[in-house]
Amino acid sequence: MPSSPILPISTPAPKAAIIVGSGLAGLSAASQLLKHNIPIHLLERAPKPGGNSIKASSGINGSPTKYQPKFLSGPDDAFYSDTVKSAGQAMSSMTVHRERLIATLTNESAGVVDWLVQQGVDLSRVAQLGGHSNPRTHRGAGNLPPGASIITTLLKSLQESPLFHLQTSCTVTKVLGSGNRVTGVEITSAEGEKSTLYGPVIFAAGGFAGDAQGMLAQYRPDLGSYPSTNEPRPGMQSLLTAVGAKLVDMELVQVHPTGFMDPKDPTSPVKFLAAELLRGEGGILLVDGKRFVNELDTREHITDVITKMVPASTLPKQWDVQLVLDEGIYKMAKSHIDFYVWKGLMRKTTISDLGPTALGAIQEYAKVAAGSLPDHFGRTSFANWTLTEPNPDSVIYVGTVTPVIHFTMGGALINENSEVFNDQDTIIEGLWAAGEITGGVHGGNRLGGSSLLECVVFGRRAGDACAAYLGTREE
Ligand SMILES: Cc1cc2nc3c(=O)[nH]c(=O)nc-3n(C[C@H](O)[C@H](O)[C@H](O)COP(=O)(O)OP(=O)(O)OC[C@H]3O[C@@H](n4cnc5c(N)ncnc54)[C@H](O)[C@@H]3O)c2cc1C
Repeated sequence: MPSSPILPISTPAPKAAIIVGSGLAGLSAASQLLKHNIPIHLLERAPKPGGNSIKASSGINGSPTKYQPKFLSGPDDAFYSDTVKSAGQAMSSMTVHRERLIATLTNESAGVVDWLVQQGVDLSRVAQLGGHSNPRTHRGAGNLPPGASIITTLLKSLQESPLFHLQTSCTVTKVLGSGNRVTGVEITSAEGEKSTLYGPVIFAAGGFAGDAQGMLAQYRPDLGSYPSTNEPRPGMQSLLTAVGAKLVDMELVQVHPTGFMDPKDPTSPVKFLAAELLRGEGGILLVDGKRFVNELDTREHITDVITKMVPASTLPKQWDVQLVLDEGIYKMAKSHIDFYVWKGLMRKTTISDLGPTALGAIQEYAKVAAGSLPDHFGRTSFANWTLTEPNPDSVIYVGTVTPVIHFTMGGALINENSEVFNDQDTIIEGLWAAGEITGGVHGGNRLGGSSLLECVVFGRRAGDACAAYLGTREE
């Protein structure tokens, strides 16, 4: 697809903002800039907008909100402490800085859900994902997965404004600047034609979990043989380091425990994510017919337990784990499960299909979920698991899953206003960053639902800060 033309904007005193990347971080920044009547050039490398954000399948965190099953009347302090706990060892460096970022993330989460709902996004269903001590991850009740619902709603509203210019199929190949100040970007069109655009820059180009040969090989060569949920695409942090940006946590890469192994193409290096909400709604994991972990522990922990077992194959490195759901979960996550069954990633079957060991494990889990047995693994939330007396003919939904590279916690170091630090810990003028391109917010393990949240919190903050930099013309 040919790239759309680069619109001329005035120099040397541009009054428009440049946003690199049309995922949720970029669109959130754009929404906020429009509120301040700032013209926007949103530049997107792909032919279609949305990035990885449009694929998000479990939801976005927010607490306290009216949609949570147990409405919390005061602040949900446990969201902050769950996030700090999940960040783990990383908290021992840059402690105060990380604490500030996490406080900003969690304190603004309820407002983010309100804001998205005001934009017209349905977020009325809430699940408890791994590492969370409360249900906080919001999605809609309809068929559209949360990422697609959020992206299409925001995009539609942005496209109604004459100040919003989206250019697809154009890659930002350089961030321009002099001294400690960013002044614009170099763009390369799909046809290889170069041009420049001047103005302050919000960088929201996403992570590098799809950059197997490049940045992953550089920072985590040990993960080289793992499959990924991300389509192959190069990471973009080097464009920021070229203007002096400081990177942190680059070796912290999230390996999600459940990517679907497609029976039609079991060795594919790109896997479809088995949304964490399936476990959040009550689903269990079995290896050789037995449970082996609290399925609602953090992604890091579950992956760690699985990868200590003997892999089923070494190239790609894969394990044979069964994700098992009952009809109660099916009712609550029908649109997701119907889609996975349609794709051939899950099958509707009966427990007899999994053998006698699995029957025993499922019978025991049913007792745990009903409250008549404690869980060996410490699981306390069973959400919509309703099967009380499993027998060989009980209907279940099953898919084979394996750990997959999913998300990169490292990136450009920002502060609460999404300003980017250089190596001397000074802020780079005219540059902001938000979303997965940044580092420091999640430490060693991102909680499910907190990436979309991070995009909105720090994307909107970047929009506000950039508008202030340009001189606000709010009406
Ligand atoms: C399958 C899947 C499911 C997920 N589910 C969830 C979930 O339920 N909840 C959650 O919180 N998180 C989830 N995540 C993680 C989350 O979706 C992403 O981390 C987040 O959306 C990143 O948003 P972003 O705006 O930073 O980047 P992206 O959405 O990836 O957008 C970045 C955009 O920048 C563009 N770009 C890159 N380089 C350039 C360049 N040089 N010039 C121009 N454009 C460029 C890219 O093409 C892309 O469109 C999921 C991720 C995946 C892969």
